[in-house]
Amino acid sequence: MADSCAICGQKIVGNHVRTSLGELVCEADLPVDHCRWCARVHRRPDHRCELCASSATHNSREAVSLSRAVLQWLEGHIPGHNMGDIPVEVVAGDFFGSSSNGMTRWRSAGNRLVDMVVQVRSGLPAFEIQSVLAHEYGHVMLVRHPTTGAFTGGLGGTRDDEEEGFCEVLRVLWIDHARGPSWEYRVKSVRDNPDPVYGGGFRRVWPAYVEAGSVTRFRETLFGQVAPGVIDGNSGTERDGHVPDEIVIGGSHRPTLAISPSQRVPPVARNAPPQDSPRRPDISWRQ
Ligand SMILES: [Zn+2]
Ligand SMILES: [Zn+2]
Ligand SMILES: [Zn+2]
Repeated sequence: MADSCAICGQKIVGNHVRTSLGELVCEADLPVDHCRWCARVHRRPDHRCELCASSATHNSREAVSLSRAVLQWLEGHIPGHNMGDIPVEVVAGDFFGSSSNGMTRWRSAGNRLVDMVVQVRSGLPAFEIQSVLAHEYGHVMLVRHPTTGAFTGGLGGTRDDEEEGFCEVLRVLWIDHARGPSWEYRVKSVRDNPDPVYGGGFRRVWPAYVEAGSVTRFRETLFGQVAPGVIDGNSGTERDGHVPDEIVIGGSHRPTLAISPSQRVPPVARNAPPQDSPRRPDISWRQ
């Protein structure tokens, strides 16, 4: 099959292109569209491949079911975590706007968390729902201590890149664990995302994750950086007592993957994960 067209299935005999995923497409099938989720070529009119369209998730029951594997995987990183009690809801796409697929929302009063919910966009393929959930559970564990349940409120507005970077690290770890369609491409899309908060945040904090050696210590490291007068003047390591007394509505979101191969940018070597670190976790970066 290696020499067959990914669209028509015919043997490639003349002019053709090779996509970034290694698919071949014959000249007769050009121009070709890439699936918005997995980047594979397809011939459907809705910018989704057959596989991604057939696994599109439209209701919360399915999303809750998909969340179980993510929660179980997180148990290996954060033993005894309590994130299984966070409701997961699927909501209509227009709720999010065009650049976001998920959101973690919470309300707090003083140093007490009132409630919290993770919301994901309707229509995402199952594998994407799960990688969005991996990211959103990152927000959950920054807002609420993953085992004690103490309200911690996130890293704070001046540290958006570190917060989103932390969540993107979780997403990459999940994708590496779960694999699935075009998984190397999806890892690369996170790592090379040109967005300064998401991609920039990932590249900034990834070395801290490698250094910490575990998600739990990585998380503690980020909170430990908020020492009095060091970064933003907050006192304490977990921001208790620094939230107003009225109910505060918090929220975090993440953007859609940069999925079109044409949007991809070259790897940022300066902040790229160390290729030879002896403590590097079991992520395979293949370029
Ligand atoms: Zn063809
Ligand atoms: Zn697809
Ligand atoms: Zn986020």
